Amino acid sequence: MSKQTHTFQAEVAQLLHLVTHSLYSNPEIFLRELISNASDACDKLRFEALADETLYGDQPELRVRLTFDKDAHTVTVTDTGIGMSAEEATSNLGTIAKSGTRAFVDQLTGDQKTDAQLIGQFGVGFYSGFIVADRIVVESRRAGLPPEQGVRWSSEGSGNFEVEAITRAERGTRVTLHLREDAHEFADGWRLRELVSKYSDHISLPIQMEGEKWEEGKEEGQPGQMVKTGEWETINQASALWTRARSEISDEQYIAFYKQIAHDFEAPLAWTHNRVEGTAQYTQLLYLPARAPMDIWDREQTTGVKLYVQRVFIMDDAEQIVPRYLRFVKGVVDSADLPLNISRELLQHSRDVKSIRDGNTRRILALLEQLAHEGDAAAQPGQTPGDAGEAAADAAEDSPSSKAEESKYAIFWREFGAVLKEGLAEDLGNRERIARLLRYASTESDLPTVSLADYKARMKDGQKAIYYVTADTPAAARNSPQLEIFRKKGIEVLLMTDRIDEWAMSYLNEFDGTPLQSVAKGAVDLGELEDETEKKAAEEAAEHIKPLLDRLKQTLADSVEDVRVTTRLVDSPACLVVKDSGMSLQFARIMRQAGQDVPNVKPVLEINAGHPLVQKLEDSPHFDDLAHILFDQALLAEGGLPDDPASYVRRVNALLV
Ligand code: ADP
Ligand code: MG
Repeated sequence: MSKQTHTFQAEVAQLLHLVTHSLYSNPEIFLRELISNASDACDKLRFEALADETLYGDQPELRVRLTFDKDAHTVTVTDTGIGMSAEEATSNLGTIAKSGTRAFVDQLTGDQKTDAQLIGQFGVGFYSGFIVADRIVVESRRAGLPPEQGVRWSSEGSGNFEVEAITRAERGTRVTLHLREDAHEFADGWRLRELVSKYSDHISLPIQMEGEKWEEGKEEGQPGQMVKTGEWETINQASALWTRARSEISDEQYIAFYKQIAHDFEAPLAWTHNRVEGTAQYTQLLYLPARAPMDIWDREQTTGVKLYVQRVFIMDDAEQIVPRYLRFVKGVVDSADLPLNISRELLQHSRDVKSIRDGNTRRILALLEQLAHEGDAAAQPGQTPGDAGEAAADAAEDSPSSKAEESKYAIFWREFGAVLKEGLAEDLGNRERIARLLRYASTESDLPTVSLADYKARMKDGQKAIYYVTADTPAAARNSPQLEIFRKKGIEVLLMTDRIDEWAMSYLNEFDGTPLQSVAKGAVDLGELEDETEKKAAEEAAEHIKPLLDRLKQTLADSVEDVRVTTRLVDSPACLVVKDSGMSLQFARIMRQAGQDVPNVKPVLEINAGHPLVQKLEDSPHFDDLAHILFDQALLAEGGLPDDPASYVRRVNALLV
């Protein structure tokens, strides 16, 4: 193969332009990216070699070596990993594959300053080499190919790159960076060691550098200098982070490891790291991210837990080892007893895997319980930080993780609460624990910080149920007419505004012995809280306006199942409710929007007998119009739309005129 020139994929060219033309505040991450690629390449070889040991050839050692040349201004990263064929080099280093990089490209705004900040957050994989280099040469040979099938890839990071065949005795990849003038500082032993310990210490592969020693000047007055000793030293810990004892791992190391495996630029909220010795033996290191992933680009992304068996990487996203409702968890599980050749299919049926999943679930729930506990403590009045004013706001600007006033659990709940709710349906065994983790806004709290236990503790004497309302938005929930009587009586109502809420609540009928009751379902029964005189008055009113109810029922026969008097309302003339077991109107709408075939269930129209509008209705010459308006307005108030909006407008206008 002679030398061929290729053009970068348009997105890569765009990215490179940005990398090389924007002031870049954090150039040193290039080394982290290159070492991470070397480490991935070694993982891949180890995995492929499980099936074909000859891939190791005469080089059984997996490692990365860092060298530099102060005079030539170069830094070189050499690995003994899987390597690349010519085709692989052309496609892998000419297009954008990596999800993190793709997410970055999709976020580009075209504004140089904003975009340059984005690079700092995402890192851009291999291409970050061009932050410090104006020429990169990659020499590689794929494991299993003969030496003549090596490849040299080179580029100056502008529009194109060159690929040619070379003979390369060693398997694996060598990346040589020809440093830009302003990046010469990186061709330095101390600097490189410092960067390795800062960013790559958790890499399980040995990272080696040639030893250096100080040599005094030979003659008086001649300066001394560092000289290479010719011996290779391993400069990182070189053991997989999760295999070390907790006490030997610093928070910084935990965080750096998280950033690498999760492709996240933000520190995690929390983590749990344990060696489990039960029916199944494994180590788990599980993290809670601080931010929901950008699923928009990554629809297939299920879980972010990597499976290792005896420190050999087996697969990413092993969905069987974490239940779906905890799919936001990232981390590593390293099993001591699964077979090395385990496939996704086998995972599904393995008892060990089930035991690992149960263990992971318990740990994550325990971690959430701990955060929730801390969050509740922080939410106690009098404990809010005094002057979290300007200083915190300033800090928040350059560090996204410093959300001073918000508890970790509040952050977790905002980002992932809706996902956790799926667990009510999915995980019967842990339903009670999950229920304790739920948080909602309520008529007593604007912030979603009310737990079911808080609610119970505040219940009125004689209150028999935990009341909630579901709606599309917090405002709609808060202003729902169904709440009027509860407000009047000072009974707290939980406000649920996630799309999943009603569905999830259908799996939670009670909490700690107290039933949960939607305020929009069934007839109101406040039990002992009900005022006997009010109740009587309502019954009498019902008797009195029975003819009116019958007339309404007749007129609205197409739309309602029944018309009845209610004590639920105080200020509104009417509202809609559904039967106790029925699907709420709001939920039916969500299902229809999602393309589901939902039977059309007619609601019950409930009337506030004391309302002037209702009283006026009785002998109005516009009975028909008013009846329809009453119904349509009740529908509007709970977030729906009249079936025939134009008729509604015409009727209202006729009355206005
Ligand atoms: P990512 O590592 O997330 O896939 P990168 O931009 O860092 O994205 O690398 C792009 C691709 O180039 C990798 O997926 C891999 O296929 C290939 N590659 C990069 N470095 C190496 C290496 N040292 N050995 C083998 N392949 C490599
Ligand atoms: Mg990479």
